[in-house]
Amino acid sequence: MASQLRMKVWVELVDADGVSQRREIVSIARKVDEARLDDFGLCLEESKGIQHRLQEEFTQFQTDQAAQLDRGCLECGRLRNIHDWRSRTVHSLFGICRVRVPRFRNCVCGTPATLGTGRVEALLKGRTTPELERVQAELSSRLSFREAARVLDLFVPAPRPHNHRTVSNRLARVADQIEKRDLASPYRMSRAGGSPISVFIDGAYIRAVPGYQSRHFEIAMGRVVTKGRPPRQFAASPHVTTGKHDVVRAALRAQGWVPGRDVTVFSDGDVGLQGIVISATRQPITHILDWFHLSMRLRHIEQAWEGIRKVDNLNIYLWDVAFHVPRLRHLLWSGYVREAQRAVKDMHYQLEQHARRQGASFKLKRFFELVSSLQTYLIQNKPSLVDYCRRYWSGQSISSCPAESAANSLVNARMNKKRQMRWSPIGAHRVLQVRAAVADGRLKQAKFALAA
Ligand SMILES: [Zn+2]
Repeated sequence: MASQLRMKVWVELVDADGVSQRREIVSIARKVDEARLDDFGLCLEESKGIQHRLQEEFTQFQTDQAAQLDRGCLECGRLRNIHDWRSRTVHSLFGICRVRVPRFRNCVCGTPATLGTGRVEALLKGRTTPELERVQAELSSRLSFREAARVLDLFVPAPRPHNHRTVSNRLARVADQIEKRDLASPYRMSRAGGSPISVFIDGAYIRAVPGYQSRHFEIAMGRVVTKGRPPRQFAASPHVTTGKHDVVRAALRAQGWVPGRDVTVFSDGDVGLQGIVISATRQPITHILDWFHLSMRLRHIEQAWEGIRKVDNLNIYLWDVAFHVPRLRHLLWSGYVREAQRAVKDMHYQLEQHARRQGASFKLKRFFELVSSLQTYLIQNKPSLVDYCRRYWSGQSISSCPAESAANSLVNARMNKKRQMRWSPIGAHRVLQVRAAVADGRLKQAKFALAA
């Protein structure tokens, strides 16, 4: 007969008076002979079983202890008699806990049975532990609801598979709690006094569910950055109860903004995005055109020019263009806006004649389009162009790159077009609230009120 090892796990429960009790949780058997790496230590199923058993012991013990305190009569101090037991179910990260809760009889002194039984009620207020809700919300803000349910099945002890609808409902609840708390949060006095507060804002389109008024809708997201605090991310959908500006205002408030304090907004020049911040602050803002977006346009022009300049000796015919393309970037970087505009105008004028003549190549036409759209862009955004060089060297922001990275972490991974997911505005809004909170580390800090 093959000899076996037995490994046992015991739990020791010590109550407030120091009285302890021990219980066996599990006993695991392993062969000594022919043992493989497969048998090495705990396996996932065993570990899930242990977690669940421990959780059962812990929760029942806590419930019993709370009930013991509740049992004492408020008036005379005698222990009330137990009438019967009820079963209560709480879903936790370590499985579903069914605990037994006593119901008491009226005390012999006449005090009603239900008076002063608040401890058990407080302990068991709600059907799901906040931790389980947070974990489900966090997972489903990163993965699809179905994938989140599968990951939970993998690691979380549960008698039956997690349901993606439950997961999605939990996310909704957590998102609503986050939002409620954000909107109710008061102004915080800023520790960083008069230091500038910057809003980096960007938009993205995501696919709408069938039946929505349009095929796509635009979400706004970004960061609020100020000295002395970690950046705060925000994101919002259109057509939900909370306006985009409410979300931005809550983020500003959390970063120590108070009405009257200057706000600098960085964006790609989209008037709608600036408008959101203006409605949030209800005061004039300083808008700076994001260097990153401007630089991307310049790069497209540089690359397009590189591709055509040697063909047909274009750099000889288009001498103005050949002269200006390499210096445009420098002009805009250093804040020579008027010179840059003049250069673009010259380029445009010269190109117009060549690009419109018969037989002009597709590449040349394309290049002409890029230049003329830059011309319009510069005219529209002239007031928002600054001396980026000086700002950069004095350590000030020049780019909404932070907003871009917020966009990446908030939107792309979860709502990307490649995933072919379709969203309702409220569904997207909720996922975004949780994702933003996860990104900031706010979800973990939060102590959410439990509502049954
Ligand atoms: Zn009594």
